[in-house]
Amino acid sequence: MYYECIPTTCTYCGCGCSVVLQVLDGHLVGVLPGKTNPVNEGSLCIKGWTSHEFVYREKRLKNPLVKKDGVFFETGWEEALDTVAGKLKKIKEESGADSIAALASAKCTNEENYLMQKLMRAAIGTNNIDHCARL
Ligand code: SF4
Repeated sequence: MYYECIPTTCTYCGCGCSVVLQVLDGHLVGVLPGKTNPVNEGSLCIKGWTSHEFVYREKRLKNPLVKKDGVFFETGWEEALDTVAGKLKKIKEESGADSIAALASAKCTNEENYLMQKLMRAAIGTNNIDHCARL
């Protein structure tokens, strides 16, 4: 039996609480609060305490889905990104950049949210960018 403790950051919201993943024989079995991080000082909310439970869920999405004829199909990242890029380009050409909007996520890092607004403003050409923490 091999037990490991892996320090990391909770993925559930933007607070960024420190957690310690409990791994037993290569399987994630629990989460403990990080005690020295000033963000959470040894505490977690209920989402943090249960943040390991989704990892092995059967219904968890592990690959992108593309809808064809009204039905979702699992696909690779390359096809999914090509599909999204092609559709955004078509919408921009037909209806203008302000026809496109994006909602970023509190589950992303600050850096990922920064890149999302950069994509919308610099590449797409619109200020239509918001964040779910404001909803
Ligand atoms: S433990 Fe709770 S408050 Fe802290 S990051 Fe996770 S979800 Fe957010």
